[in-house]
Amino acid sequence: VINDLSDLQKLSVLGHGNSGTVYKVRHRRTSSIFALKVLRFDHNTTTVRQQAVREAEILKRVDSPYIVRCHAVFDSDDDICFAMEHMERGSLQDVLLLHKVLSEEVISGVARRVLQGLQYLHRMKIVHRDIKPSNLLINAKGHVKIADFGVSRVVVGKHDSCDRFMGTCAYMSPERFDPEKWGGDHNADEFAGDVWSLGVVVLECLKGHYPLIGVGEKPDWAALVCAICFGEKLEMPENSSPEFRSFVRRCLEKDWRNRGTINELLDHPFVSRREILIDFG
Ligand code: ADP
Ligand code: MG
Repeated sequence: VINDLSDLQKLSVLGHGNSGTVYKVRHRRTSSIFALKVLRFDHNTTTVRQQAVREAEILKRVDSPYIVRCHAVFDSDDDICFAMEHMERGSLQDVLLLHKVLSEEVISGVARRVLQGLQYLHRMKIVHRDIKPSNLLINAKGHVKIADFGVSRVVVGKHDSCDRFMGTCAYMSPERFDPEKWGGDHNADEFAGDVWSLGVVVLECLKGHYPLIGVGEKPDWAALVCAICFGEKLEMPENSSPEFRSFVRRCLEKDWRNRGTINELLDHPFVSRREILIDFG
């Protein structure tokens, strides 16, 4: 148990995000290694603080092998710190930078674990809203887990439309750009948004680059929104298997009402049929 922040010795920086810095830290008494995410409120904006509190509340609630574990939360006037399990191999983004592309076998294992994580979260009524390579972390065993609940929320009752437009634009589903399409029972569209993002990630892993716009194209905001909402043809990598293509198409179905559900996708041959191979090389 980590009783106090002073029990933790900073060793190095693991990553920066929009909201803060993540350090590799050592627990002085036990020598165990953790990741410490520090969210500072320099300018004391209440929205930043509210978001951090929300992230802390979600982290305290979740307990799953598919979600990065949080061991302690330290809350002060200037910052909130989360002591999390250290994911030794960094993020899927790091892995993609290193290997350029992954094999279908490896991607299938990644997809399966993310789906299991999303299934758990959705049962807890939590939408992640920011599924992307830098928020999927990998440990020494090669297990992928979902991290970063910075823009997530617990879905209760009606939507609060003001904060629905959060997360990273490139991985957002078409309906998130169009308030007229929001709705459905129990915010079903919000859950379907996480499935879309997974589809983008899966396709990116095989193509080796962000898949919805051409390699040479400038990824400005307008081009992105256009590709996401109106792009007609999905460019599948040559030599990709029929299972892969079908899986990605079910995730990247533009109309969220027709998109694959988590349960359907967990039964999809792309993830269910194969022996799971976890070897990032
Ligand atoms: P942000 O909300 O700022 O995006 P994240 O929680 O996504 O913060 O963390 C930013 C980066 O820090 C990640 O992309 C990853 O590279 C690294 N990181 C975060 N948590 C861990 C962890 N538990 N173990 C190892 N690296 C981590
Ligand atoms: Mg992040």
